[in-house]
Amino acid sequence: MGNRGLRLWAAASVAVLIPAAASAQWTLAKVAAADLAALPNVTVVYYDVPGKTEILIRRALQEGQRDSSGVRYAGLTESEVSYKYQTQTEPNGVCRVTGAQVDYRIKVTLPRLAETKGIRPAVLARWQGFYESLVLHEKGHVFLNLEKYDRLQAIIMKASCDGVDTAVNAEMEALEKVQAEFDLLSDHGAKQWVMF
Ligand SMILES: [Zn+2]
Repeated sequence: MGNRGLRLWAAASVAVLIPAAASAQWTLAKVAAADLAALPNVTVVYYDVPGKTEILIRRALQEGQRDSSGVRYAGLTESEVSYKYQTQTEPNGVCRVTGAQVDYRIKVTLPRLAETKGIRPAVLARWQGFYESLVLHEKGHVFLNLEKYDRLQAIIMKASCDGVDTAVNAEMEALEKVQAEFDLLSDHGAKQWVMF
């Protein structure tokens, strides 16, 4: 479902940004408290950030990762979803959706110091603050994905036989929009972001 980039230096804690629109299964608090890699179908991958001083680490971060469209990011949450459904035409000619399966994968890319040896404790502490706030931001994206995917099966089941793809596409477009809004709002909460 496309890339969600986080531009460096502009993001915020997710806590105040998401209204209480949680599904039964997923709440932002639940996702925020979880270990990312322990969430269902979530994989975490790391890229190494070289440097032992604050300046070099910051430079490495800024030159760091780019997503498929070339946008630089510190952290990235990508996801893909696939679905299957079954239909049945009743004797009266009415077609119904009788089953639906939704599969998804979420990949979160995060920075990791290439080496911590030789880095001053104050710089390490600063990095930790930055890293934790970044993880919290990406958890916001993961939450939005999980919340949507969680509801997708019911949405497919409610659709008409020839309306499933349209219904799913509309949900995915809505998800893209809310993810983009989340990033936009994050920019406006820059003071909550722990910069490195
Ligand atoms: Zn973001």
